[in-house]
Formats: sequence, C-alpha cells, structure tokens
Amino acid sequence: MSKKIRIAVQKSGRLQEQSVKLLKECGLSFSNGPNRLKTETYNFPAEILFLRDDDIPQYVEDNVADIGIVGENVFIEKQKDISLIERLDFSKCRLSIAVPREKDYEGIASINGKKIATSYPNIVQQFLTENNITAEIHEISGSVEIAPGIGLADAICDIVSTGSTLLSNGLKEVETVMKSEAVLIANNTLDAETQVLLEKLIFRIKAVNTAKN
Ligand code: ATP
Ligand code: ZN
Repeated sequence: MSKKIRIAVQKSGRLQEQSVKLLKECGLSFSNGPNRLKTETYNFPAEILFLRDDDIPQYVEDNVADIGIVGENVFIEKQKDISLIERLDFSKCRLSIAVPREKDYEGIASINGKKIATSYPNIVQQFLTENNITAEIHEISGSVEIAPGIGLADAICDIVSTGSTLLSNGLKEVETVMKSEAVLIANNTLDAETQVLLEKLIFRIKAVNTAKN
C-alpha cells in the first residue's frame, strides 16, 4: 500500500469552508460530513482530518497529521517546531490592540502598566517586548472584546477584519500587532514519499491561486 498524506483542516469555523474548497480545487475529492473526524480522498493519496484549528499545530508537530491549514496567527502563537510552507490567500485578518473608545490613546506607551485581555498571549508578549512596554496579559479563550466592558482589562488584543465587532463593543483599534491569512504548515520530518506528495499538492495550490489572481 502506498503512502497517503494526512492533511488537518478545521472541523468548523471560519477556515473550514475555504480550506475544503481549496483542497477540492486541487483535485482532491472527498465528502466532508459534519461529524466526521477523518475522510479518505479519491484522485489523490490523502486523508483529511477534521480538527479544532487551535490543536492543528500540535498534531502536525506530533506527526498525527503531516500538514495542516491554520491561521498564521495560530501558527505563530503556538510556537511549535513545524514549518510554514505556503500562504493561502484567504481568511485575511489582523491581530490588533483595541481600547475603549472614550479613552485617550497617545501611542503604544499608553498601554504601559495596563491589563490586556487576549487569546494570543505569546504574540502579545512579543509585541510588548519589542516596544519596551510592560503590561499584564490576561489570557482568555473567547469573547475577548467584552473584557474591557466588564472591568477585566483596560485593552484587548484580538482578531479584526472589518472592525464592526470592536465598534459594537465600544472599542477602537489602536495598534496592528500582526497581519494574518490562512497558511499551509508541515511537519519538519516528513519521509521522502510524503514529501513528494506535499510537493505535488503545493504545485496544485500555486496553480489554483495563480489562476485566481
Ligand atoms: P474557536 O476555535 O474557538 O472556534 P477561533 O477564533 O480559533 O475560535 P475561528 O473564528 O473559526 O476560530 O477563526 C479561525 C481563524 O480564522 C483565525 O485564527 C483567524 O486566522 C481567521 N479569522 C478569524 N476571524 C476572522 C475574520 N473575521 N475574518 C477573516 N479571518 C478570520
Ligand atoms: Zn480556534
């Protein structure tokens, strides 16, 4: 039996639909029932694993999956020993710091000594360090944008695309910490056969994305 490349994609959420669409455009055909963890593909020797996006870098590092699709923000935050292979040109967003609209903000120094709520503590800490700022980071896993309103934090760092969520929570965006898009990540120790399959897939991804632009 010949090798299959194991591809991890988000099981539900903002990356799911376009991850599946890209793989299908690359010629992999498979059914993705809502409750399936794993599915085989026709036309290409692959297996798709549907996982929580935040867990994908760990699964790729641990060699449970060979490659995966996640937001660049998640790839950077998780700090795993894996590689970014290709930017995929969808799920574009940014990670920004926001503060209550009524607060004066005079540059990044205004954050000094404050509390920042975020789901991305490593990325925020790195940004603060680069800017010589000391602030207290509160890690929370969801609904970060409500933290200032309930007195949990002075500022937040969260994903922004249009800014409408910030607006409806009385917040204003004051700093861009990083830009992000969906990326293809890979295990660093793929065997030769899997590496060949990865290269075939990358070739197809490039062809698909070039045709779109
Ligand atoms: P959970 O895993 O708890 O469902 P999440 O934020 O990790 O929440 P999604 O909301 O599905 O999961 O987001 C997945 C990825 O999609 C994010 O890590 C980010 O890269 C990207 N993303 C998130 N929000 C947007 C957005 N509004 N526009 C474009 N891309 C986004
Ligand atoms: Zn997630």
